[in-house]
Amino acid sequence: MLPHRLAPCYTETDMKPQDTDRQDSYRQEQESRFEETFLSPSGGEAPSPRTAPEEAALPRLRRFEYPGMSEEHRQYLAVFTSSSALAASAPPGPVPADLASLRVDYRSRLNDAQLQAALWEGGPLLVIAGAGTGKTWTICCRAAYLIERGVPPGEILLLTFTRKAASEMIGRASMLLDDAEAAGRISGGTFHGFAHRMIKRYADIIGVDRNFTILDETDARDVIVLIRDELKLRRRDNVPVPKGQVIQGILGTSRSCELTVKEVITRDHEHLSVYIPDLEVIQRLYLKYKQAHRYMDYDDLLEVLYEKLQNNSRFRQLVHRQFTHIIVDEYQDTNTVQGRLVEALAGERRQVMVVGDDAQSIYGFRGAKSENILNFPRIFPASGIIRIEKNYRSTPEILAYANDVTGAMTFAYPKQLASVRPGGAKPEVHRCFSQQEEASWICDAVENLQQQGSALADIAAVYRSNHLSGHLQAELLKRRIPFIVYGGLKFVERRHVKDMLAFVRISLNTLDAAAWHRVLRMISGIGQVRSGMIIRTVAENGGVFSAQKFRGHPFFSAMEELEGVIRYLQDDRLSLQQRLLRLKAYYLPVMRQHCEDYARRIPDLDVLASLAESSSSMEEFFSDLALDPPSASFQDYPTEKHDGDADSLVLSTVHSAKGLEWRYVFVISMLDGVFPDIRSLHDFSSLEEERRLFYVACTRARDGLYLSFPSYIQTHQYFALPSRFLSEQDREHFSFYIGRREHPVKFV
Ligand code: ATP
Ligand code: MG
Repeated sequence: MLPHRLAPCYTETDMKPQDTDRQDSYRQEQESRFEETFLSPSGGEAPSPRTAPEEAALPRLRRFEYPGMSEEHRQYLAVFTSSSALAASAPPGPVPADLASLRVDYRSRLNDAQLQAALWEGGPLLVIAGAGTGKTWTICCRAAYLIERGVPPGEILLLTFTRKAASEMIGRASMLLDDAEAAGRISGGTFHGFAHRMIKRYADIIGVDRNFTILDETDARDVIVLIRDELKLRRRDNVPVPKGQVIQGILGTSRSCELTVKEVITRDHEHLSVYIPDLEVIQRLYLKYKQAHRYMDYDDLLEVLYEKLQNNSRFRQLVHRQFTHIIVDEYQDTNTVQGRLVEALAGERRQVMVVGDDAQSIYGFRGAKSENILNFPRIFPASGIIRIEKNYRSTPEILAYANDVTGAMTFAYPKQLASVRPGGAKPEVHRCFSQQEEASWICDAVENLQQQGSALADIAAVYRSNHLSGHLQAELLKRRIPFIVYGGLKFVERRHVKDMLAFVRISLNTLDAAAWHRVLRMISGIGQVRSGMIIRTVAENGGVFSAQKFRGHPFFSAMEELEGVIRYLQDDRLSLQQRLLRLKAYYLPVMRQHCEDYARRIPDLDVLASLAESSSSMEEFFSDLALDPPSASFQDYPTEKHDGDADSLVLSTVHSAKGLEWRYVFVISMLDGVFPDIRSLHDFSSLEEERRLFYVACTRARDGLYLSFPSYIQTHQYFALPSRFLSEQDREHFSFYIGRREHPVKFV
């Protein structure tokens, strides 16, 4: 018996009319699955275990085969679907006899497989292992080991997803060695940061103008919008002109997936077919615009580095001499160019170790290729492959649940994680009535955990996309529970921070037209036309900005004031803080004029100034921010200001939670059409990616995993279905509750 008329939580308009039949059958399927899984008090018939022992032993390939599967996929999957091939590929090497004489006791800190990886001497190595198996930890130990073996730390290149992750790894290596100085010389960072450093350092050798400016994603969008507006596109065949974000997405996919604009539109955005010629023009103009204004976007950095490594032998030799050991974490999320870069960086020496988990590949939408990990043995013949199957992070109950998630994946090589930890509680699934009730239940549970002695920093609530955290944020604020938000709109993407940075950009590159547009827009009396005129004048003047050129214009005094600020920012004799404070004084009245919530934004300007503290030059400060912006946005509370160190609950998108762990994890809004995302519901590979994302979410938890969903979505005024991911799970592996925690009705 169903309590309500159930409907999916997306609106009818999200579905095309011809999908009605599919929609109805989908609903029926979901209703019966929901009923079977959740509402039969007897528990109904237990679903047959997904992986009977004999099936688990069989290659996943059989299940993986699907119509249209390419021969290439078939081949490289074959490598991974045979566990004997894997085992044979990395025979346990002899453990060096002098291990005991080293500073770090590697044996006590690592299990056999980890030890084998950390001490590896045999050329290229792929460590492919599930979540929480200590991949990142193994990298830390490997870095320490290499240093102990006499590899100069500066020759170790540690590439990972964020600068923070890299510095944490280096910090751990430093603790292991008890030598912060040596570990601090390891070259670590993101692919983009590394590419930027190399291009700047060797600009003369590779023939690149070193005064380029990095365009982050929002800057790049601004430029695209500028070009689109210049083209004055008209609505065609009743299809609205695509938004900047959509165009950016199409151009990005075209590049990362190596497809033409036409191919991307035909594949993913058929309704925009009428705009194919326009978007092709935008693509060409965007390229020219970047060249004319000395811009490089993220993809350019990687492509330039790769191209120069291929074609400039002197540069290649220098880089190879400088970095003799390449280590990459989260390899499953590298894209095509990054995969090629690893190959190019490894060179003939082939001292390369990559670490990843194909089941955690979650950036396919940005062109990441989990195939990179599967392809590794082909790119690097005779590479070692090590699997780690022990999980140190989570309780057996959480792992049983996570194994169900991988069990439901089609495209994954078989692996079952085994916990080394003692038993704990089963994951809990909570069904709440509304989103408010869900938020309130989570806050109750958090307070409960606090009373039992947990720190707030040990707890995280994760969700599919940022807007889902609204109700929870409101409830946390009401109860004065401090929290910090990861992901979503990053600090540097906020309008006022971007505004401040636009001045900085002009001070570094006076030909930065997009930054000029942003700055000039703030001055009253200057519109699109005047702004274009000013930018042209600066360009014609060889990039020199002189207010005198505008004498006689009504905005002359504004130009004089602006020139003063830019000159101040360029003055190297002053500290970065001094310069940013001068800029703040100029910008505050502008912000007051344009932003209603002016007062709430002021602390961000101070945060910006404090971030400059660790930079040695304005250029370094700006590049660091553009390449690897702080991932957390700081909430200012009505009563207390967040100082960054306060004990705070973490709110995070699942994407931003990658690689991290907490004792207790709440995965909220587990609704079909939310998680998995509605756009993935009818697309095999997107749905698989959503499932991998769910796996990432569940495997962040060490001691407690709580999944919840509201039945009723107030904003849309309808009842929603629980996520299909919840109903795919083995009933034995979780407990199910309805309602608030004080009055839970336990069903399973
Ligand atoms: P993810 O896939 O989520 O990135 P991971 O494989 O990188 O996970 P780590 O983050 O390195 O896993 O490790 C997970 C936890 O297990 C950490 O708390 C780490 O300190 C611990 N750990 C790893 N290896 C060992 C070990 N041999 N003994 C004890 N604890 C370990
Ligand atoms: Mg990791």
